[in-house]
Amino acid sequence: MSGSVCVAGLGPGPDAWITPEVQAALAAASDVVGYHSYVARLALRPEQRVHGSDNGDELARADQALALAAAGAQVVLISGGDPGVFAMASALFEAIERNPASARSCEVRVLPGVTAMLAAAARLGAPLGNDFCAINLSDNLKPWARIEQRLRLAAQADFVIALYNPASRARPQQIQRAFALLREERAPETLVMFAQAVGRPDEALHVTTLAEARPEQADMRTLLLIGASTTRAIARTGTAGATPWVYTPRWLAP
Ligand code: SAH
Repeated sequence: MSGSVCVAGLGPGPDAWITPEVQAALAAASDVVGYHSYVARLALRPEQRVHGSDNGDELARADQALALAAAGAQVVLISGGDPGVFAMASALFEAIERNPASARSCEVRVLPGVTAMLAAAARLGAPLGNDFCAINLSDNLKPWARIEQRLRLAAQADFVIALYNPASRARPQQIQRAFALLREERAPETLVMFAQAVGRPDEALHVTTLAEARPEQADMRTLLLIGASTTRAIARTGTAGATPWVYTPRWLAP
C-alpha cells in the first residue's frame, strides 16, 4: 500500500471537539507523529507507532512524517486546534515544497479542526459575529515591526481581533507593547476578552475593557479577543459570577 500523510487538528480541548473524520484517520493510522503532549492524550492501539517529540521544530516533524509515508506508512501528523491555523499544515507544505522528489508522490490530506478562536468565541457568546481577523503575536518567524503594523491597521479597520500566542515567558514585554498600541487606536471602553485554556479543566474567561485590561494576565494558553466598536456585553442573569455574554451584531451602521 502506498503511504499517506493526514495532517489533523485535535481541537483546543476535550475529545468531543475532535471531529469524527480525525478520529477515523487516527484509527486507520499506522504511525502518529506530533508534539509529545498531543500524542500522549490519544488512545492508540499497541501496534500503532507513536513518534512524539518535545522539540518545537515543526519542519523536522513534517520531514519525519513525509519520510515515513514515503516508506509506505499511513501517517497522521497531529496539531492542536485546526492544523491550518498557525500550525502544522503550513509546515508540511513547506517541507513538501523543499523536498519535492520524495514528498510529492504520497497522498496528503488536511483535516479541519476546531481552532481556539472559535472555541473561545462560543464560550463567550458570539464575539466573531461581524468582520474579524486573527493575528499571531509570536515573532519567532516574523519581525515584530510587521506584527505591530498589522495590529495597528486591524485596530484602525475596527475588526474584532483574535490574538494567538499572546505571550510567553521568553517575551513578556510584547503583549504590553501590543496593548499600548491598541490603546492609541481604540476607545478605552473597547471590550477585551481573555479566554484561557478553553475546553480544559482549568478554563477561565475574563471580560474587561481596554482601559482596565491587565495584559500580563495572558499566557501561552490564552486566546485574546479585542472587540470591535460594536461588540457589546450582556449580563447573564441567574448565574452569579458568570462572565457576561459578549456578541458583535451582524450589522454595521452606514
Ligand atoms: N492550531 C492552533 C493554534 C496554535 S497557536 C489552533 O487552531 O487553535 C497556539 C495558540 O493558540 C496559543 O498560544 C493560544 O493563543 C491558542 N490556544 C490553543 N489552544 C487554546 C485553548 N485551549 N484555550 C485558549 N487558547 C488556546
